[in-house]
Amino acid sequence: MATSGARGGRLGGLGQWWGVLAGALLVAAWVNSAAGPALVITLSALVVLWSFFQAPVTCNAPVRGRADGCRNNASGLLLGCHIRQHRWQKLKMLIVRRQVRAFCAGLFSDGKATVVTLAGAGSFISGLVALVPGVVVH
Ligand SMILES: [Zn+2]
Repeated sequence: MATSGARGGRLGGLGQWWGVLAGALLVAAWVNSAAGPALVITLSALVVLWSFFQAPVTCNAPVRGRADGCRNNASGLLLGCHIRQHRWQKLKMLIVRRQVRAFCAGLFSDGKATVVTLAGAGSFISGLVALVPGVVVH
């Protein structure tokens, strides 16, 4: 079996988007009240973890001489690409207060990032609502 170079074969493609599938299941679990909170919480946690640490977004770390930053694929919204200096770039931005705004802008920097951000945010809220009884008025 040939793999497609350094991108990790099949995982470089649609496999990386399993979080969106989990997100769709999450929506289905919300619509179908028989699913129960345990399933909703599990799916929410999965999608949040995916969007933070695994989703195929662009790295965007600042690169000397490039206005648009690093174009490598990153692992999730909180991690950078395989370059060591980029790996923790986004987490560092979250800690440095004056860079938080830049980090937030990066969350919607392109179509992929926006999808991942919305999926992560939606799932986070969904998990919160499922965990805290009484938040949803039935
Ligand atoms: Zn990078």
